[in-house]
Amino acid sequence: MKKVKAAVLTGVKKMEIREFPKPEVKAEDALLKVLFCGVCGTDPHLYEGRLPVPYPIVQGHEFCGIIEEMGAKFPKKDMVGKPIKEGDRVVVLAAYNCGECYVCKYYPQRNNLCENGQVYGITIQCTNPPHLFGGFAEYVYLTPKVELYKFPDDIETETIILTDPLAVALRGLELACQPGLPWAGEGFGLTKTVIIQGLGTIGILAAAGAKTMGARKIIGIDGVEKRINMAKKFGVDEVIDISKFNSSQDIINEALRLTDGMGADLVVELAGVPVAFKQGIEMTRRGGKFIELGHFTNAGEISINPSTICFREIDITGVWAYPLSEFVTSARMLEMTKDKFPYSTLVTHKFDVLDAEKAILAATDKTCIKAVVEGK
Ligand SMILES: [Zn+2]
Ligand SMILES: [Zn+2]
Repeated sequence: MKKVKAAVLTGVKKMEIREFPKPEVKAEDALLKVLFCGVCGTDPHLYEGRLPVPYPIVQGHEFCGIIEEMGAKFPKKDMVGKPIKEGDRVVVLAAYNCGECYVCKYYPQRNNLCENGQVYGITIQCTNPPHLFGGFAEYVYLTPKVELYKFPDDIETETIILTDPLAVALRGLELACQPGLPWAGEGFGLTKTVIIQGLGTIGILAAAGAKTMGARKIIGIDGVEKRINMAKKFGVDEVIDISKFNSSQDIINEALRLTDGMGADLVVELAGVPVAFKQGIEMTRRGGKFIELGHFTNAGEISINPSTICFREIDITGVWAYPLSEFVTSARMLEMTKDKFPYSTLVTHKFDVLDAEKAILAATDKTCIKAVVEGK
């Protein structure tokens, strides 16, 4: 029987390559030959034990591949109704909801907050057959609970692998649009100014999203030259290189200088360090929007003087992943803008499944923008 290699996280900082039997595909299910699985910002946190997971797991939740085998009852359409068949290249939305909890029943537009949500590569143990519920593997076993999106063939696989991180960025930007009166200064929209704190993959993609949504001026903040140079190709107009400033106040002052002394209409925090949250509040114009996207794990605390929030009368909004519909929005934006932004160049590092652990370690290196594991 043919074996399938997978990178299994068995404990804190313990990853090993295991071989599982290539599964028999049930009528309801399908088998995906993995092309790429992106290393998410979350993956080093999982690896280092900062998010609880039910060891052992096959890690990896941002994956795409070729449908090798489809059971007779597996859905024949992708999440927007395009027909799919064996041999098609698809991106997998690796998270799914229970459909039954309080949130799923009464707040379906926030199904990202499902009380029993599952994610391939994070919440599903690999102990029992068919084992393959994560993307750092040669194959992934698909059940009808996951949604698929089929891209046209003329988009590179290095681009479509960004559907998940772009969806996270777009979730933040779309929440910033509320209440949807940009002409009255209420909510993000055409000609607004944006500051993005932190130019990792999601920060860079947030710039592309904001530009596509009509931002007038996008200011990116980071201290790593390689990221800064990359961000300029994705809509960032001005840069604040924090390695060139001595104090927090100097950085804030520069942000204010670049926004005519007012602060930006929208600030998106993607650095994931508490001091960025404190600085970002003071970079937001009075009556503006502040989106907190960077702190998906506990990075510590910072003291805030609440009067700065009152005085500035800003809206602070937290973001936790994205509702399923955002995946479609993200995929369609990639299709729309594939010739406008050099998406595939964000994939700076590639590793084989056998080196998945190296991929996770590479992702913590600031010179790496996006690392992917190839399913071979
Ligand atoms: Zn992710
Ligand atoms: Zn639910």
